[in-house]
Amino acid sequence: MSDLTHSKEANRRLSQLAHYDALTSLPNRALFYISLRKIIKQAEVNQRTISVLFLDIDNFKSINDTLGRPLGDELLRQFSLRLLECLRIRDMIARLGGDKFGCILVTPDGSGDAGIVASKIREALRRPLELPGHQVTVTASIGISVYPSDSLDADTLIRNGDIAMYRSKNAGRDTYRFFTAEMNTRAIERLDQENALRYALDRNEFVLYYQPKMNLSKGRITGVEALMRWNRPGHGFVEPLEFISALEQTGLINRVGAWVIHSACKQIAEWRRSGIGEIPVSVNVSGRQFSQGHLNRDVIRATQENGVEPELLEFELQTERALRENSIDSDLLELELTESSLMTHAKNTIGILRRLKTLGIRISIDDFGTGYSSLAYLKRFPVDVLKIDRSFIVDVTTNPADAAIATAIIGMAHSLDVKVVAEGVETVEQFEFLRKRDCDEIQGYYLAQPLPATEISKLILEGNQLLKPAIS
Ligand code: C2E
Ligand code: MG
Ligand code: MG
Repeated sequence: MSDLTHSKEANRRLSQLAHYDALTSLPNRALFYISLRKIIKQAEVNQRTISVLFLDIDNFKSINDTLGRPLGDELLRQFSLRLLECLRIRDMIARLGGDKFGCILVTPDGSGDAGIVASKIREALRRPLELPGHQVTVTASIGISVYPSDSLDADTLIRNGDIAMYRSKNAGRDTYRFFTAEMNTRAIERLDQENALRYALDRNEFVLYYQPKMNLSKGRITGVEALMRWNRPGHGFVEPLEFISALEQTGLINRVGAWVIHSACKQIAEWRRSGIGEIPVSVNVSGRQFSQGHLNRDVIRATQENGVEPELLEFELQTERALRENSIDSDLLELELTESSLMTHAKNTIGILRRLKTLGIRISIDDFGTGYSSLAYLKRFPVDVLKIDRSFIVDVTTNPADAAIATAIIGMAHSLDVKVVAEGVETVEQFEFLRKRDCDEIQGYYLAQPLPATEISKLILEGNQLLKPAIS
């Protein structure tokens, strides 16, 4: 008798372990799936509507890193209690893993309920969670998919809910989204794109275009910016804004970024060899290239010996190798980092920028004015060039605020002994405005669009003749 009780108890424990989450005591992912399938079967008979909600706590990783694991666990427990407050007895809630939760709501009709529940959850999260020694407020991103309108089977419902949840994240977090068919198309496109990007480098599908910069006092081309294009089979030339973030998210940016630097250096050598001249080239660098690098054994050894961060070193090695292999003077290479990526990685970045500068490479801050710069940092960054973002130039001759900002940036840069380039100059009025205010260089369609290397050679050989008659 007692044996039987024991084995019953053991079975119950096993089933508990297999189907419930130890931390929150909520059903786990396995039970969530089993239940959803069952509920769908019943709904087929009773003609009910099922809404599936997927929740993901915003920025949980950094909260967890800051609080430490035990408090992070406590936060997840309290979060799950807060969710329970928002649901009815017959609704199901599960912890799907990490900071992801799922709810199943069964309603007689329509999907309106799910939106109401999602709003209720957002409201309930406005009250801070009380952790020992801390009050923490969190938000969640929520994705909703609905049976039968979005899908008839559990797997697709779950996938669609997940896609919608990511949409909420991309929409700025702390919000909810219902799945739509259009989201599915976008998600599939994105997957296709990622897949194609994996092969793009080996298949030589990337090309560098170059856009000239003109010095306003000399009226001549003084350098070019390398801008990547992806010649994607079946899609034509794809612009970087459509694929850089995918390169960053997949980590491919490190290999592709190294390729960009190598190609730019090869081009500098080629222009020199063919007698066009020594043309300085600036290359855009993603913040990710500084913070993630793939390591090889030499790098790890060198790192240990010198106490340097390995990722940073990898980037430096790539750059240094590109210069050396093409026998390029390092002052012909300029690296452009956006203001926001500089500030995000500020502490790490100062060190690497200093070392790159000792190699002789010039550093430029791209899209200046769009991020949050700390002026204190700016003084400490070894910066040579500021590029005023195009958004200030567009209306510089009609909007007094933009004019004031552009003028202030030029003044500030000059007093820090930093060169200023205005981006996106399209009209003669903008050009004249910038010249009167002593801006050093301009770049933009007014001069030329980004062009293939051979076109740049022609431009320079013909003594800048192809440039619009910029200076009288
Ligand atoms: P960016 O570095 O600020 O480059 C300037 C962008 O403005 C380029 O867009 C250029 O074609 C465009 N542009 C230049 N003049 C004008 C103008 O007069 N009017 C207008 N409307 N646009 C103008 P593009 O080539 O599409 O590149 C977009 C961004 O992608 C770049 O912004 C840069 O942040 C990034 N990018 C491009 N190539 C690379 C690369 O090799 N590596 C990395 N990490 N990022 C890159
Ligand atoms: Mg740039
Ligand atoms: Mg820019």
